[in-house]
Amino acid sequence: MIETQDPEVRTVSIFDQMTEMEHEQLAFCHDKDTGLKAIIGIHNTVLGPAMGGTRMWHYENEQEAIRDVLRLSRGMTLKNSIAGLNIGGGKAVIIGDARKLKNEALMRRFGRFVHSLGGRYWTAEDVNMTTRDMEYVRMETPYVTGLPDASGDPSPVTAYGVYVGMKATAKKAFGNDSLEGKRVLVQGVGNVGTYLVERLVDEKAKVFVSDIFEDKLKAIADKYNVTVIDPSEVYDFDCDIYAPCALGATLNDESIPKLKCSVVAGGANNQLDDEVKHGRMLIDRNILYAPDFLINSGGITNVYYEQQGNYNRDRVYAQTERIYEVCSEVLNFAEANDITSHESAMRLAVKRINDIGKVKLAY
Ligand code: NAD
Repeated sequence: MIETQDPEVRTVSIFDQMTEMEHEQLAFCHDKDTGLKAIIGIHNTVLGPAMGGTRMWHYENEQEAIRDVLRLSRGMTLKNSIAGLNIGGGKAVIIGDARKLKNEALMRRFGRFVHSLGGRYWTAEDVNMTTRDMEYVRMETPYVTGLPDASGDPSPVTAYGVYVGMKATAKKAFGNDSLEGKRVLVQGVGNVGTYLVERLVDEKAKVFVSDIFEDKLKAIADKYNVTVIDPSEVYDFDCDIYAPCALGATLNDESIPKLKCSVVAGGANNQLDDEVKHGRMLIDRNILYAPDFLINSGGITNVYYEQQGNYNRDRVYAQTERIYEVCSEVLNFAEANDITSHESAMRLAVKRINDIGKVKLAY
C-alpha cells in the first residue's frame, strides 16, 4: 500500500491501480551503490514486446513516479497500436535529478535491470535521456534502441509527426492547414520542442517559446526568430495553437478555463490530466485537441524499425506522415459521434489490439 495525496483515499493498492489501468507488470529496480531507483511498467504485450522510452525526473514522491509510469506505459500501448506497429506498451521512469545523479554506472545498472526482463521490455530515450545514455544501456543489454550508430535520436521524427498532426488539426479548426502567420506557443524547448520550432519557423508561423531553463531559451532565441514567454504566462497567452512539449497533465482544471487558443497540438505525453473530464472541457471551450499519443508517435516509429533490424529513414518519415490522415479521421469521427478526440483515437487503437489479438490466437 502507498500513500496518496488525495485526502478522500488514504491508501491505494498498487495492484488496484494496475487492475484499473489493466497493466501486466511493474518492476521496481533499486541499487544502493549507484542510487538507482527505477520503475519499469509493462502495460500490454498483445501486439508484441513492450516498448517505450525511459524518463528521468525528480518526482516529489514515489506515488507520483508510479502514477507517471502507469499512465505513460498505458499511453505507449495506445500509441504503438494506432501507429500500426507490432509492439506492446511499456515505459520506464528513473527517480532523481538527471543533472546531479545521471552517470555511466547508473545507466548501466539500469540496463542490467532491463536485461533481466528478457526482452519483454525494450527501452529508448525519453525526457532527460540522450543517445549517449542509450549507449551505456546497450553495454548491458541488447533490448535498447535509439542508439547513435543506428536510428539515432527519435526527436526530429517525433517533431515531424507533431507538425503534420498540428496541420491536420489546424485544417479542421481554421479551414486550411497552413501555419503561416499562425501564433504558435511551444511550451518546452527540449529535444522535441526545438525540432518543432524549426519546422514552424520554416513555415513562417509566429513562434513563441517557454521553458523553465534560461540556457535552453537563450539557445533557441539565438538561433531562431522566436519570442520568449515567461512560464507563468503560458496558459492565458493569446495564441492560435498551444503546443505542449514539456511534461504531461498541463490540460487540467486550472489551465483549461484560461486557454485563449483554438487548437492544442503538441509532443508531450499524457497532456490531459483527466482524459474524460478534460477532453470534454476542451470541447466545451471550443478548443480542438490533437490526441497526444497519436501525433507524437513518430519517435516510436523511428526506434521500432531499428528494433526490427530493417531501419530506413525515408520509410519512417513516410509512415509518420500518415499521422495527418489518421488525425483528420480521428477528429471527424469524434465530431460525428459527439465524443472527445482522445476517445476517438483510443477506440481506433483498442480496436486494432483486439483484432490482431484474435488473429494471433489462430493456429
Ligand atoms: P526534453 O527533456 O528534451 O524536453 C523537455 C523540455 O521541457 C525541457 O527543455 C524542460 O526544461 C522543459 N520543461 C519542463 N517543465 C517545464 C515547464 N513547466 N514549462 C516549460 N518548460 C518545461 O524532453 P523531450 O524528449 O523533448 O520530450 C518532451 C515531451 O515529449 C515529453 O512529454 C516526452 O514524453 C514527449 N515525447 C518525446 C518523444 C521523443 O522523441 N523525445 C517522443 C514522444 C513523446
